[in-house]
Amino acid sequence: MPIDMRQKLSSRRLAVINGLLALWMTCLANTSFLHHLYTLTPYNGLKAGVFLVSAFILLWAYLNLLLQLITWGFLARPLQSLLLFLCAFGAYSVDTFGVGIDVGQIQNLMQTDSHEAKDLLSWQLLAYIIVIMILPMFWLWRKPLESQGFFTKLKERIYSVVLSIALIGIVAMLFYVDYAAIFREHRTVRFTVNPTNSINAFTNYFQRHVTIQKLPLVRYGEDAKRHQIPQGKPTLMVLVVGETARAESFSLNGYTRNTNPELSQKPLINFSQASSCGTATAVSLPCMFSGFTRKNYDDELANHREGLLDVLQRAGYHVTWIDNNSGCKGACDRVTNIPLLPHRTTTWCIDGECQDDLLLETFNDYVKNAPVADRVIVLHHAGSHGPAYYRRYPKAFEKFTPVCNTNAIQGCSQQALINTYDNTILYTDYIVAQTIDTLIKDAKDYQTALWYVSDHGESTGERGLYLHGTPYMFAPSQQTHIPMFAWFSPNFAFTHAQAQQCLKQKQSVPVAHDNLFHTMLGLLGVSTSVYERDLDLSWCE
Ligand SMILES: [Zn+2]
Repeated sequence: MPIDMRQKLSSRRLAVINGLLALWMTCLANTSFLHHLYTLTPYNGLKAGVFLVSAFILLWAYLNLLLQLITWGFLARPLQSLLLFLCAFGAYSVDTFGVGIDVGQIQNLMQTDSHEAKDLLSWQLLAYIIVIMILPMFWLWRKPLESQGFFTKLKERIYSVVLSIALIGIVAMLFYVDYAAIFREHRTVRFTVNPTNSINAFTNYFQRHVTIQKLPLVRYGEDAKRHQIPQGKPTLMVLVVGETARAESFSLNGYTRNTNPELSQKPLINFSQASSCGTATAVSLPCMFSGFTRKNYDDELANHREGLLDVLQRAGYHVTWIDNNSGCKGACDRVTNIPLLPHRTTTWCIDGECQDDLLLETFNDYVKNAPVADRVIVLHHAGSHGPAYYRRYPKAFEKFTPVCNTNAIQGCSQQALINTYDNTILYTDYIVAQTIDTLIKDAKDYQTALWYVSDHGESTGERGLYLHGTPYMFAPSQQTHIPMFAWFSPNFAFTHAQAQQCLKQKQSVPVAHDNLFHTMLGLLGVSTSVYERDLDLSWCE
């Protein structure tokens, strides 16, 4: 390399550093994006190669432009470091899970507790952080930036910006139609461009949440009353909110593996065509309790409006939430919350993550000691939450082998991953069946019923996707098709004979989280002006 060139490259001038960082980000943090674009072109051979080069140039020019425009003065290096940080985490997420970064992902991240976050840590993530973030940061901070006069700096900056714009223009002239078609048809591609995907997602998230926090609570269903009090004993309805359980892995829905050996022995009303409101807990959970349908779901309003549990409480039910997950995302803010039994954590918890047996024990203990009254108890499962599926169940439920004993799931075979996931479903089968057994015993004091519904599904490598959180429009059925079923004790079934008939008619028609709010009001005999009969699955002519 000529000395002059070498001097230029080792220069500590900000405009040059920005150009080199853009190159680093293009080469290392965006391989999935470039590969994705490459697979979406209709070309082969040389033309495909030329297109890939154009994509590379376009991306470099775009990132260079971004860096040249936002890095000024003493804030330059902290900002460059922040972008490298976003690149490292973004590239890890996109490369390993095939998950682009959008506002939904950020919402998940913000509502993730420290235990869930720990599950995501792995050696691969460390490698991404070291290579994509730490190495260039070391180089960046090792020596001070060259001091230049203001006008020299500005001149260089302008040259660089003009170069970027010119390159973008040339690529656009040559391949405009291709890029327009790809970005229009595959809208999720932009969620894989690091670090701008994270910047956009964080900006959207904070804009939305700063406004929500200032908003006062909106009352909902203020006129709620129980219109019919069934004869006999008080009602005990248990609503089980499952986690990451997908319908296609339930043998109740036709899966060839027997993942429901216990529930298949119970008289269930199983809805085989249920779909979720979102593809992540942070959307599905508030949505299913909100009274909104998926199509008109308003995240902002749902976050500061009363929901199903407030309405049931107002109508006279004692409402309790027991959580073995990362909280109720606002759905249980004004009802009784019962903590998991502290003296049983050594048996069921590792590093603060507890298996659902602890939830079951807590529930059994609570029901045994709580005064008999009309009750709704929500049990929020840890269920099948990934990527550390193997930590969700006790060893006795490791029926499908070999399993993936790591949270770095991309290193496991797809079959091992599915085995591990199926073991979590087998465990959920046991936990829910045990909950029903408790309710059978409690039938001496109550008329009991149970409703199970999962929050969203999961991808286990189908179409190259893992975990969940894909934007709903593009999400595969693995993430949106959820298990949902009901169980009635004989005395509940007797007092709700008509409702049971109606529910049975809808077992194989498309239903959704949309129906939960109104069906619960219907089954629990609550009338209010916000109830919509057409969405109540327990109502029919
Ligand atoms: Zn979830």
